[in-house]
Parts: sequence; C-alpha cells; structure tokens
Amino acid sequence: MISIKNLSKIYNTNGKDVVALKDINLTINDGEIYGIMGLSGAGKSSLIRCINMLEKPTTGSISINGTEMTKLSPKELREMRKKIGMIFQHFNLLMNSTVYENIAFPLRISKAKDSVIKKRVNELLEVVDLEDKKYAYPSQLSGGQKQRVGIARALANNPHIILSDEATSALDPTTTESILNLLRNINKQYGITIVVITHEMSVIRNLCDRIAVLENGIIIEEGNVIDIFSNP
Ligand code: ADP
Ligand code: ADP
Repeated sequence: MISIKNLSKIYNTNGKDVVALKDINLTINDGEIYGIMGLSGAGKSSLIRCINMLEKPTTGSISINGTEMTKLSPKELREMRKKIGMIFQHFNLLMNSTVYENIAFPLRISKAKDSVIKKRVNELLEVVDLEDKKYAYPSQLSGGQKQRVGIARALANNPHIILSDEATSALDPTTTESILNLLRNINKQYGITIVVITHEMSVIRNLCDRIAVLENGIIIEEGNVIDIFSNP
C-alpha cells in the first residue's frame, strides 16, 4: 500500500517559491491501477516523483508497505527503488544498446550474475512479446515496441509498483490499446500496483480502477472511475 499524508512540494528557483503540491492525502491499495489526471502544471509529475523520492517532499510523509520513504538512508532508498519500476512517455532507452541490454540494465546495476540476467531477460522478452527483437537497437523499433522494452526494463527487478508517466501519450490509438492490454495483464498476472499519470480519457476509462484529479497542486476529485463517470 502507498500511503501519502499531508504531502507538500515547494520548489525554490532563484529565491522564488513555486507550490507544486499542497497537503495531498492519498492511499493507493496493493494491486490497484490508480490514475492521476490533471492539466499541465497541476503537479502530476511532482507527485509521482515524490513517490519514488526522485523529488524530496517539502513536508509530509510517503509510506510504501509500511516503510517511510522520507526517512531512508541513501542505501536503503536504492534498495527500495529497485521495487519501483518506472515507464516514460519518451521511453528513455539507451539508444546505443540492444533491446537485450536495455532490459538487462537494471539487473546489471543490481549486480546480478550473467546467467541470472540471461534467464530473466529472456523471460521478459516473452512477457512483452519481443523475442524476435532481442538484438535490435531502439532506432529499429516502432513506438509501441520501444514502450514494450521500457515495460520489460521496469519489470526486471520484480517490482511491487510501476509508475507510468504518460506512457502512451506518444503512441497512436491502436498501439495505445495494445500497451494498455499489456499493463492490465501485468497487473492481473503479477499483482503489481500501477500508478499512471495521464491526460487521456481512454487510459482512464480502459485501465484505471480509481483516479485522483489534480488542479494547482490540490486533489479536486477522487474516487472510482465508474462512480465519477456515471455522475451526471
Ligand atoms: P504536471 O506534471 O502536472 O505538468 P509538475 O509536477 O511538472 O506538473 O509541475 C507542477 C508545478 O511545479 C508547475 O508550476 C511547475 O512549473 C513546477 N515545477 C515542476 N518541477 C519544477 C522544478 N524542478 N523546479 C521548479 N519548479 C518546478
Ligand atoms: P509502426 O507502424 O507501428 O510505427 P514501424 O513501421 O515503425 O511500425 O515498424 C514496423 C516494423 O518494422 C517493426 O517490426 C519494426 O521493428 C521494424 N522496423 C522499423 N524500422 C526499422 C529499421 N530502421 N530497421 C529495422 N526494422 C525496422
């Protein structure tokens, strides 16, 4: 469970404060697919980046399965982050590395043995249906295939949570649908909690169980997708 309490994030640039998140309270249950919606500048990225502590909250607490993230040592945080996969709008792949090496990357950072890496990468290639692209480079892949590599890389260390930052925004509707199917299958099969930032209604309707709508750093709406969209 991800439990966010009284979270605020204030950036200070050139002596000027920008309040990105104001007193956010949010609980995301294990195995849930949770959507974070809102216009550009609403605070979505800040929220997701506070969950894995890429940004340090200004005040408040974030606990993941009972572990208070704001109190971890750098070493403990590195261990915790291995269990939080991330996928991105522009995939963030290593362009000079093959599909195999891109997926192996987090395992190499974790200092896994070559034999373990080989077995895990081959499993993951099957999960994302890219066995035939093992030795291709990202420039040789379609957008959907690149995102499948991103998803496989996020899964490499068997995460409990996947954070998705506009993962389908750069994809056409058909490709989006296939990526949403893949994410749904991963959620069902492995019970991984998925938190998605999106501005796309199709993602909310077809993927998320619950959503929060952010506006100017405040949650203005929260609840089950079905309830929110059945309201007149
Ligand atoms: P969203 O993801 O919804 O577009 P962000 O979390 O990126 O929103 O941004 C929320 C607010 O915080 C915006 O006003 C943005 O300009 C500001 N902001 C985000 N990141 C930084 C930063 N690193 N330094 C200063 N201000 C930032
Ligand atoms: P999409 O229409 O989904 O964007 P693409 O036309 O990009 O698909 O790719 C179709 C197929 O051709 C994919 O299997 C992709 O891997 C392959 N492909 C695309 N570009 C290259 C390339 N430069 N070299 C080798 N294979 C490629």
